Amino acid sequence: MISEDPSKVTAHTFDRIHLPNQHKLETARANGAYQFLPTVLSEFDTDRIISEVKTAGIRGRGGAGFPTGLKWSFVPRNTGKPTYLLCNADEGEPGTFKDRDIIRFDPHLLIEGMIMAGFALGVHDAYIYIRGEFVHEANVLNAAIAEAYAANLLGEQILGTDFSMNLTVHRGAGAYVCGEETALIESLEGRPGRPRFKPPFPAVEGFYHCPTVVNNVETLASIPGILRLGGEWHAAIGTPNNTGMKIFSVSGHVNKPGNYEVPLGTPLKTLIEEHCGGLRHGTTPKAIIPGGSSSPWLLADHYEIPLTFDDLMQAGSMLGSGAIIVMDETADVVQIAARLAHFYAHESCGQCTPCREGTGWLDRVMHRIAQGEGREEDFAVLEEGATHMAGRTICALADGAAAPVLSLIRNFPDEVRARMMEKSA
Ligand code: SF4
Repeated sequence: MISEDPSKVTAHTFDRIHLPNQHKLETARANGAYQFLPTVLSEFDTDRIISEVKTAGIRGRGGAGFPTGLKWSFVPRNTGKPTYLLCNADEGEPGTFKDRDIIRFDPHLLIEGMIMAGFALGVHDAYIYIRGEFVHEANVLNAAIAEAYAANLLGEQILGTDFSMNLTVHRGAGAYVCGEETALIESLEGRPGRPRFKPPFPAVEGFYHCPTVVNNVETLASIPGILRLGGEWHAAIGTPNNTGMKIFSVSGHVNKPGNYEVPLGTPLKTLIEEHCGGLRHGTTPKAIIPGGSSSPWLLADHYEIPLTFDDLMQAGSMLGSGAIIVMDETADVVQIAARLAHFYAHESCGQCTPCREGTGWLDRVMHRIAQGEGREEDFAVLEEGATHMAGRTICALADGAAAPVLSLIRNFPDEVRARMMEKSA
């Protein structure tokens, strides 16, 4: 399954990310982009592609970790309706900054992945929904897409085959909740981005009530490598049920923050110490957000945890989008939780009462505590408010809002108490 020039094989998503001018079609092609596409379009079919992706075991890289091949297999065939492919490039989770790098530096990898996915799913019209603030990235994408159209990699009868697909970039307006797939669909249809009740799931009834697959940028950018080298190649990386490489966006109190692509199952400590240069000033971790701001915090005793969806879940947190925020012993965890509470209150779409009211309460109480004007009974208010929000709403934003607050009051009660009393001391 390897092309004639193995040195040009793009296996992992970040393999070509540092090459100069990789965002230009000519350079990307010289470095191996689209080399395997003609083979896929002429020798593969839907079943074979879905089978390879299932064998690969790749789980969605946007946060939920749902198996991509399974998601694709849910799309009904021959419904008489069009099937849509939507790329989720909203990347609004605080701490996440990986997708924008793929788009900025290697957009043709994403486009190639979307062509292959679109071919597998019988898609004629695909969209990239990109966060409104990503002006430069949207420009890079549009330029790359124009190059791809000019080279007959998009549009009618791609590379002389019967497969035709259009690809359009749609800029959002910067709402965090539009990273949720049904809110993204609502927004793309021209309405306010508010999550829908599920079921029906988008695979059956999504964009304009048609079968729709929504995949994350990193997920789609992984497809060329998987089809080129085979599902078994991908499945051999990582750990069982958590296969492949994963890009982790590491920020906070580390010496070398940035994006790092490592096999799933890499211990958190290895990522921090060996790739990120350890914690600044040789300090020790106080708390770590492992999967974006909506994931429950880990403490120092989880420093060696393998970074997999399953291990993180077992530890009571989640891998999410792979956004790791490291807080060392100097971190003001009360202020961090208060800042996140404010963010979620601002981003709640307001449909569900527990989220609309609950995020407001958490924000107000956390703000008061952070200002040194808290009261002992605030512990009960926060605990009750946060636990009553989680699991009772249309989307997971409310759970995400509850996570940092619960992490704070359960793990750092003395610090919260000391802050509460500051003004009265
Ligand atoms: Fe909107 Fe919050 Fe309900 Fe999600 S949980 S649908 S953000 S109100």
